[in-house]
Amino acid sequence: MSNEGKTALITGSSRGIGATIAHRLAADGFKIVVNYAGSADAAQEVADKITAAGGEAIVVKANVADPKAVAAMFDAAERAFGGIDVAVNNAGIMTLKPVADFEDDDFEKIIAINLKGTFNICREAARRLRDGGRIINFSSSVIGMRMPTYGPYIATKAAVEGLTQVLAQEMRGRGITVNAVAPGPVATALFLQGKSSELIDRMAKMNPLERLGQPEDIARVVAFLAGPEGAWINGQTLRANGGMC
Ligand code: NAP
Repeated sequence: MSNEGKTALITGSSRGIGATIAHRLAADGFKIVVNYAGSADAAQEVADKITAAGGEAIVVKANVADPKAVAAMFDAAERAFGGIDVAVNNAGIMTLKPVADFEDDDFEKIIAINLKGTFNICREAARRLRDGGRIINFSSSVIGMRMPTYGPYIATKAAVEGLTQVLAQEMRGRGITVNAVAPGPVATALFLQGKSSELIDRMAKMNPLERLGQPEDIARVVAFLAGPEGAWINGQTLRANGGMC
């Protein structure tokens, strides 16, 4: 029932929520695959801190939108650690513009990373995760808020929630659970960039706890789903948002 000897692969764990998940799952006993697309130094720093704390980690560059790179990342993880037990589909981007102004390139990029990237990892995980494993996808609590400019971003996350429900059923017989976490606003570059301090304050107060989420708030939820205590949660989306409606 422990996490010892198990491996967790976290996409987009060079920065933000993913980096915090990597540290938390390492502290919980997992061997860690730190994935990044652009931030090589930051990814290496995450792995170095994990090993300095007595854990095990490798760093693998892979654009989640590229199926070949994703397969090669699973190969590298299996070579290093013998297999993968937990796949956390954290990598994501957010582009905010009204639908009328959204460029094709931006639309294709957000679909490629948030939706196709999640699909690529889910497919590889469905083929290769060890029995008893966990797939944890990332949605967003803004789905329920109908906020202008969030259309394509929300479209990718709604699709991820649908994929999560079906994949949970397809894993029958393997003991693999598939869930999604849907954070509310969390204080990372993805949320903070381009927003005025007034807007940030207003969004922080949208939940009754009246603060922004911190990466640790989300890493705790992922740790619950990835560890033995989360074993009976399957096919669900956990909305970790401080009670924001
Ligand atoms: P962030 O601070 O911008 O970090 C994003 C991470 O994703 C980085 O490590 C980045 O790595 C990686 N990444 C981006 N494109 C990638 C690609 N093509 N392949 C592999 N890795 C890629 O974002 P965050 O706030 O931590 O968000 C993490 C997840 O939570 C996302 O799925 C996001 O949609 C979701 N979420 C966030 C919030 C929020 O308020 N922050 C709310 C709800 C949901 P590189 O720098 O190496 O490219």
